[in-house]
Amino acid sequence: MKLCILGSTGSIGVQALDVARNVGIQIVGLAAMSNIDLLERQIKEFNPLCVCVADKTKARELARRNVACEVIAGGEGLCQLAAMGGCDTVLSAVVGIAGLKPAVSAIQARKKLALANKETLVAGGEFVMELAKRLNVPIIPVDSEHSAIFQCLDNKNHPKRIYLTASGGAFREWSAEQLLHATAADALKHPTWNMGAKITIDCATMMNKGLEFIEAMRLFDLKPEEIEILIHPQSVVHSMVEYSDGSILAQLGAPDMRIPIQYALTYPARVASAFKKLDFTTCGPLTFHKPDFDKYTCLRLAIDAAKMGGLMPAALNAANEVAVGAFLQNRISYTRIAHIIDKTLSAYNLNGSERNLDDILAADAWARRYAETIAIA
Ligand code: NDP
Ligand code: MG
Repeated sequence: MKLCILGSTGSIGVQALDVARNVGIQIVGLAAMSNIDLLERQIKEFNPLCVCVADKTKARELARRNVACEVIAGGEGLCQLAAMGGCDTVLSAVVGIAGLKPAVSAIQARKKLALANKETLVAGGEFVMELAKRLNVPIIPVDSEHSAIFQCLDNKNHPKRIYLTASGGAFREWSAEQLLHATAADALKHPTWNMGAKITIDCATMMNKGLEFIEAMRLFDLKPEEIEILIHPQSVVHSMVEYSDGSILAQLGAPDMRIPIQYALTYPARVASAFKKLDFTTCGPLTFHKPDFDKYTCLRLAIDAAKMGGLMPAALNAANEVAVGAFLQNRISYTRIAHIIDKTLSAYNLNGSERNLDDILAADAWARRYAETIAIA
């Protein structure tokens, strides 16, 4: 395999390089936003043909260091890298809507797509899945829940429902009163997973599960009523699929993202790994309960947007990115995140029937501008 990793300096990117090291995957392309020090070390170890740095100033700085590969820049560079010759598989692990265009480029260039960037499918899922289907390009999920479902699905029987499990995030035990004073530092303390800042906040609000709800609808062609969310604090059962005869299949494992990353890269083969294995005698009881939709407003907003369909999920995703960004910069309080998304979706009235890339990006841009005006108000 000749792999290109978009977002190689992030949480998923670094773990994917660990998998590549263990399995012996050849790296031909790497991309980051601005962390050129880590990218330079990755270039020295993995010898890619080309790297992209989205921040153009940082790209010039890296090129001046005379690294042993081509250096390209910007969002257009990311698309160019995703479609580069000499690569057969692209892992998209950038964060946010920045992943959408490069994912489309990878599909158009007929690269197998291992997809961690859930925002791509939330904002543009129908368009992206239709394109991949038409060009016969496989999209293999990296997100642990979707990897679990992918592994439990049986291509002869449509499931009765799927159960998406959720840790409940940093605020699982917090009351509504305590949440009024929750800070970004509090929200960044995730109980079971170590991830990038944006997704960690999404876990605290449970927007992450809402985004995953939409991601699951698109990946597996499910209706909203076929998806149920369960809080499962131990993060051992990564998700489940129920069939009409009452059988339920689950995928379990230690909470280590390298397991689903590796599976997405080696699929359909299963390759030995040295990652810590789940021990049933020590993992303690496994518990499940329904989420409190009054406490997790963002989850409710996401499911409502999923039901409305059209470009609503794109608007939801954009408003969420703006709100989470503002929260991480301590510009707004925790409870304003849901408020900003709610107000943006209520004001959104461009939910037309077209769903091409330009429409998706226009919905994203509109919601981003609108949400920003509320965030600074
Ligand atoms: P991180 O924030 O840790 O990493 C993001 C990566 O993308 C970094 O390499 C960053 O570069 C790069 N990047 C950010 N913005 C841009 C941009 N505009 N253009 C190009 N590159 C960019 O995120 P995670 O690894 O946690 O998450 C990545 C994606 O995977 C997200 O969509 C997330 O929802 C999804 N995911 C993550 C999981 C996890 O365990 N972390 C689990 C399941 C899904 P730089 O370092 O230079 O800023
Ligand atoms: Mg997940």
